[in-house]
Amino acid sequence: MKRSFYEKTKLFFINMGKYHKFLRIPAIIGLAVSMLSHRICLYFKTGTKRFACTVFVLLCFMVGNSFAYPVFQEENGFISGGEKEAEVVAVADSNISLVDEQQIEYENIKVLDDEDVVDGYGDSQFHDMKNVDKYFLDEILEENEILQPLKAAEQAEMEPAPEAAADQPQFDAKDWRLVLINKQHPIPEDYSFSLGMIKTIKGDMECDERIIEDLLQMMQAASEDGVTLAICSPYRDLSYQEYLFNRKIRAYMKNGMSYMEAYSISSQAVTVPGASEHQIGLAIDIISDTYLTLDEGFAETSAGIWLSQHCAEYGFILRYPKGKEAITSIEFEPWHFRYVGKDAAEVIMDEGLCLEEFWDKYL
Ligand SMILES: [Zn+2]
Repeated sequence: MKRSFYEKTKLFFINMGKYHKFLRIPAIIGLAVSMLSHRICLYFKTGTKRFACTVFVLLCFMVGNSFAYPVFQEENGFISGGEKEAEVVAVADSNISLVDEQQIEYENIKVLDDEDVVDGYGDSQFHDMKNVDKYFLDEILEENEILQPLKAAEQAEMEPAPEAAADQPQFDAKDWRLVLINKQHPIPEDYSFSLGMIKTIKGDMECDERIIEDLLQMMQAASEDGVTLAICSPYRDLSYQEYLFNRKIRAYMKNGMSYMEAYSISSQAVTVPGASEHQIGLAIDIISDTYLTLDEGFAETSAGIWLSQHCAEYGFILRYPKGKEAITSIEFEPWHFRYVGKDAAEVIMDEGLCLEEFWDKYL
């Protein structure tokens, strides 16, 4: 009878243990190993399906795990190699205690800007909007039927306004329009909303669907007053916010800052992911056809002036006013408007409050 390789091996170890007393222990080990490997081979041979299942589960586990770790983004996309990632982690680790022990000298560090930085530009041009998607009213009108009956609706809207101001409006802290989002108040986990589409000839623009009508009315009213507004960054999802934040950290790290220092400064300049109103579709950045930069100068343009005077009539407020930087922790942003509803907007703009102050006073 022909013996298989396994049987020969087994016999070899048995004989080795039998005839050489001093080789007994290695023989037992050898026997155990050969029996085990034989079992494994047999398992692969007879249980192909079972084996495939195990491999598949392991593979899923590995792939799942690889997505579970935060990815630090490199200049042109994600870091894929483990080497650079490790480098970043090492930088962060080595400086944690350092940051704890010594205060960062903020005076010497120039805070670059705010949360509304534009993708694809160098640090000096964060706010240049020339090549960024902008949606002008006529581009929206081309594709949008819902704007047509607004003129009549707008007139109806304007009339009851003084009446509403007469009796003191009551505000509800649970009102979605008043939700407070900042570094101390990230987006509540159970917050939900529906994204609405505003069709434009350049494609769809997204924001909370409940603010679209007021937003379009505001743009139309501005255009009737000879001011051409353009929306340049409406809804932004979390990954984009993360990208902006990481990019800011990188810019500071390039200037010789440690990861922890860069994180600390970036959280002052860019909204920490999870804490931006753009993520819940209630914030929009507005510029005009004649001024394509998001900077303080926009406040002096006809569009900036028109907006600050009329935004409240359509439920919008200047979210980061001048002089309130210490409260909002965001620089003056004359282009960033937040929807809060008409009643609250009138109160906030009339009294010159920021949303944080409004919460303190009325909610
Ligand atoms: Zn903004």
